[in-house]
Parts: sequence; C-alpha cells; structure tokens
Amino acid sequence: MENEVVSKNFIEQIIDKDLEEGTYETVMTRFPPEPNGYLHIGHAKSILLNYGLAKKYNGTFNLRFDDTNPTKEKTEFVQSILEDVEWLIGDIKDNLYYASNYFEQMYEYAVKLIKKGKAYVCHLTPEEIREYRGTLTEPGKNSPYRERSVEENLELFEKMKNGEFEDGACVLRAKIDMSSPNINMRDPIIYRVARMHHHNTGDKWCIYPMYDFAHPIEDAIEGITHSICTLEFEDHRPLYNWVVEECEFVHPPKQIEFAKLYLQNVITGKRYIKRLVEDGIVDGWDDPRLVTLSALRRRGFTRESLAMFMELVGVSKANSAVDYAMLEYCIREDLKMKKPRLMAVLDPIKVVITNYPEGQVEYMEASNNPENEEMGTRKVPFCRELYIDRDDFKIEPPKKYFRLYPGNEVRFMNAYFVTCQDYITDETGKVVEIHCTYDPETRSGSGFTGRKVKGTIHWVPAPYAVEAEVRLYENIIDEEKGVYNEDGSLNLNPDSLTVLKKCYLEPEFKEAKKGDSFQFVRQGYFCVDTKDTTEDHLVFNRIVSMKSSYKPN
Ligand code: ATP
Ligand code: MG
Repeated sequence: MENEVVSKNFIEQIIDKDLEEGTYETVMTRFPPEPNGYLHIGHAKSILLNYGLAKKYNGTFNLRFDDTNPTKEKTEFVQSILEDVEWLIGDIKDNLYYASNYFEQMYEYAVKLIKKGKAYVCHLTPEEIREYRGTLTEPGKNSPYRERSVEENLELFEKMKNGEFEDGACVLRAKIDMSSPNINMRDPIIYRVARMHHHNTGDKWCIYPMYDFAHPIEDAIEGITHSICTLEFEDHRPLYNWVVEECEFVHPPKQIEFAKLYLQNVITGKRYIKRLVEDGIVDGWDDPRLVTLSALRRRGFTRESLAMFMELVGVSKANSAVDYAMLEYCIREDLKMKKPRLMAVLDPIKVVITNYPEGQVEYMEASNNPENEEMGTRKVPFCRELYIDRDDFKIEPPKKYFRLYPGNEVRFMNAYFVTCQDYITDETGKVVEIHCTYDPETRSGSGFTGRKVKGTIHWVPAPYAVEAEVRLYENIIDEEKGVYNEDGSLNLNPDSLTVLKKCYLEPEFKEAKKGDSFQFVRQGYFCVDTKDTTEDHLVFNRIVSMKSSYKPN
C-alpha cells in the first residue's frame, strides 16, 4: 500500500498542538468583515480557510460583522456580504453575529480596566497624542493625564458615555507602556467620543470602541479559539493578548496571522475597487471585470472553482502574488465535465451550401459533452444556410491554417465535409457570404473513411439560430504597464470589455436561463448574465477562454 502524505499547513499544525496540549478543547473560527464594501476574492480566501478549519476539526465557524465603526458602514454592504458568504458556504443564520451587539459588554470591560488602573481618560489633542507617542527610534512620553485616580477616570468615562464631552474632546486610553518598542503598546486609544448614527444601535452610543480593543473582546465573547487574520496585524498581537489578559477571559483566543491573497496585476483592495465603482469606470460592484465575489459569481465562477483555487494556493506566512491564470485553470477544470458543449458563432459570416436542397433539414446527432457521455446527446438542425465564425475563414490562408479557405475542405462539426467554392465581399472588401458544397457521403457517424480533412469548425443553422449579445472580458489593468501609473492613478486597459451585439447560437440555447453556463465549443466557457438578460435579450459573459497559460504541477 502506498503511503499517503498528508501535509498540514502551519495553522493546522498550531491547532493540532493546541488540542493535544489541552489549550483548547474545540476549534472555533470566525470571519469578521467590516461592512464598508463588497467582499472580494481575498475575503473568500479568509472565509474558506476559517470555515474549512472549523469543518475539519468538527468545530464552529461564525460570521461576525465587525460593525464598530459607523462612519463607513452601510446596510447595503451587510446584505451583500451575507449573500456572498452564503453563496460560498451555505446557510449561516445560526452563526451570525454583530460586534455592535457587544457594545454594552465592551463598555463594561473598559470600566473593568479603569478599575484595575489599566485605562485612563486623556485630554491631549490628537496632534499632542501623536507627538507624545514618539517614533520607531524614540520612546514616547507619558500623558499628563496618565496618573489620574481610578475614581476620577470612572467619573470621566461615564461622562464620555453620557454625552457630556464634545466629539474628540477626550479619549479613553489603555495604560500600558509609553516606551515600548512596539508603538501599538504606547497607551493606545480604546474609546473615542463621536456622535455618529449606527446602523444597528442607532443613536444609543456617542462613544465607540477602537478596533484593537473591540476585536479581541468580540472574539473572546464568542469563544473563538483561533483568531485568524492577515499579516499586517502581526504587530498588534501583543495588544490583542494584553486586552484578553487584562479583561481576564478564562479561555482567551489566540491570534494567528497569514499572508493575504494577491493576484498579479489584479485589483483586490476594497478601496481601489470602490474607486473604480465610484468613478463609474465599471458598472457597479458586480461588474464582471472585478474580482468581488458578486462580480465573480455574475461572470460565472463557481464556489467549487474558488475552493479549488484556494486549495492550490495554500496558506502561507509570506506575501506573494498568484497568477490569475491559476484561477482560470480552476474554473475550466470545474466546468469541463459539468457543462454542455454547444456551438455558438460570435462573429458570424453566412455560409450557403449551394448543393444542399432548399427547404431541406436534417437533424444531426451531437454529443453534449464528449468527455462525459452521461450528459447525453442532442439533435442540431443542418440546412442550406448556416453561420460560421469569421475567424474560421481566410481568403488567403496563412501557413498551417486548416480551416476554411477557397478550395479547402473541412469538417462541419457533427455534420458533413464542406468545401469552399466561392465568397462574396462588400464594397469595403469584407467577406459577407461564403459559398460551399457538401459531400453527402461524409455524414458524421456514417462510418465514412474515404479521406481525411485537417480542420473541424463549428457552425449554427441560420433559420434556427438564437440571437445573443456576448461580452468578452480582459484584465481591467494594462498588464504590460502594471497596476499603477507614476502619478498613482490606475493603469486601465481600454480593451477590458468587448461587446458583441449579434452572435448566433444553436437552437438548444433557447432553454438557457440566467446564471446557466456552457462551453461554446472551441471558444471557452460562457455564463448567462443575471443582470442584463431579459425575456427577449440573452446576454452572455465570457468566464474564461479555452486557451491556458497555466499548467498545474
Ligand atoms: P481590504 O484590504 O480589501 O480593504 P480589509 O482587510 O479591510 O480588506 P475587512 O472587512 O476588514 O477587509 O476584512 C475581513 C477579513 O478578511 C479580515 O480578517 C482580513 O484579514 C481578511 N482579508 C482581507 N483581504 C484579504 C486578502 N486579500 N486575503 C486574505 N484575507 C483577506
Ligand atoms: Mg479594513
């Protein structure tokens, strides 16, 4: 028997050890989005990682809205995040939390810190606080308010809560160490006065906790064991630990950092995506050129393809950027056995089979997916007038071109051998019609072995064709030049969207519904757009072309 090598990532190794040593009895993870934008592919990594760990260890996974900062939060974002998370991992209602529901408890923990002499109300201005904080090379100085009595602090903090101070007039600070080499430990602010309307708590609070104080408490309240976050929080870990320790949680959570997912030449940061949306460069947060989850879903990416992608990428402690081609590989792999392969002509030229009787039609049997016979077959009508793709015809063929050109014979997929006899151009020289003859002996499936042809092309029967609009996408960034220009602006690719208004598809497509995807044979995978498709206007998004530049090892 072969030995199976199970390699665990570094987070799993930490969890194994924690369970072995009895640090924790179960595993509980969470995904804590701030509802200030739509989720993107990087968030999917975090969701699938945290959810995957909880599942693997028979633990629990929570979705928790980190909604402690009301300035940027919107109900629209809460809704979209819920939809995205449920799309990825299914129903989450039983494990759904809002950090803002803990405001009362956070307030109590702040009071506890004051009582322990571990927090104080400070009246320095923001500029003074910055000045007193010191730098990476110089220690900070103590605030003149640092040695206030517990009683005074309790009274002042209560006044902060009761709205007796103007916004920004004072803050509550943790009393840690102004000379710590870690600047985060130099008496960080834990509460501020700010009169802001909150989407959940309304106008109940005029003080709000800061992230570094709120987050560990949220984790601890829920019983999170492993609080997994991205590398930029590494320097905040000592503060995280200080908070859970000073608040005296019995089973404090543990923070573990991993590297963010970046894609080469792809815009992932929420604030950059927001810019593209707000500047009207894209058609909303779900524009299929973006890598938000709503855009990927609209474009036709599946949860399975994202899960496969995250699996391939793995979890690491070092930042790096992954090739987008790897994501394309995953969606092709996911769809290849599942989706029907049908014929579609994106840039049509009419073909007339001059020796085919007018009014006659034959139904050609075609496999729905030659790699998956279980998907069955269908009948495609073949008749005198057909469409083929412009790309499949050349007046003067380049070397090694085996498709249609004057005098050449090719196979029309699932049908007959067809020879080009002649063509018609318009006044600009553009080919508008091709005249061909077919050989009745060569019908597909008839067992004809008389001769061979080198090219096979797809076609669509003109009188039965279904009309559609097809949108082709390329990277929204000009990859040659990288993501940013010298002035910091984004380097946009003017050809990121091509709209083909009049494409012809075989009649089988009459059944296509919003969100369905198909392989267009020889061309790629396409998905019926959920937003712009109507009763009488079919719109397809190209998910990915057939060509691949990524090879898995
Ligand atoms: P962005 O960088 O796009 O603004 P964010 O980190 O501000 O994202 P949050 O809503 O605060 O977004 O993040 C929710 C969770 O998702 C956090 O735990 C964060 O670490 C994680 N996360 C965000 N971006 C990535 C990424 N690119 N790869 C992996 N995890 C990510
Ligand atoms: Mg953020």
